Amino acid sequence: MKKGKLMCPKYCRVPLAQIKVKDAVVDQCPKCEGVWFDSKGDELIRILSAGHDNLPDQLKKSWREGGGRLKLQDLARYHCPRCGSELSNYWYMKEEGGKVFQVDGCEKNGCGFWLDDGELGLAYELVSFVAPELLVEPPARESIVQRILSFLSARK
Ligand SMILES: [Zn+2]
Ligand SMILES: [Zn+2]
Repeated sequence: MKKGKLMCPKYCRVPLAQIKVKDAVVDQCPKCEGVWFDSKGDELIRILSAGHDNLPDQLKKSWREGGGRLKLQDLARYHCPRCGSELSNYWYMKEEGGKVFQVDGCEKNGCGFWLDDGELGLAYELVSFVAPELLVEPPARESIVQRILSFLSARK
């Protein structure tokens, strides 16, 4: 593991800035506005369930495409900011012909994954489509009891 500041995996040649969201910490490139998520913890889900409006201003910029200046380099290989391994590409699509959500992940050592500028919003769309239950706070104990009670009373 590299000590010190992580560098942007996309040749921006700038260190990533740590952004705190509640009790989660992510690393964002100030130049291309991509975001690095370490694989430990569930930072992505925490950020998505916090919702766009509750994010720090800096991170809001990564939600929708536009602000970041990312120069796409054909055939460029991007490297894990933690271990330096080549990142692998993963593609997701919500529906046929829909927007593509691309994740660059460290497959070799499982260090984490990278989302380009705008992909936080795409991640939100995708997760709320395939697994909306991940985005809601776990229900309080009382409400489970209440649900059981209403289930039982409905059967009478
Ligand atoms: Zn960058
Ligand atoms: Zn790695």
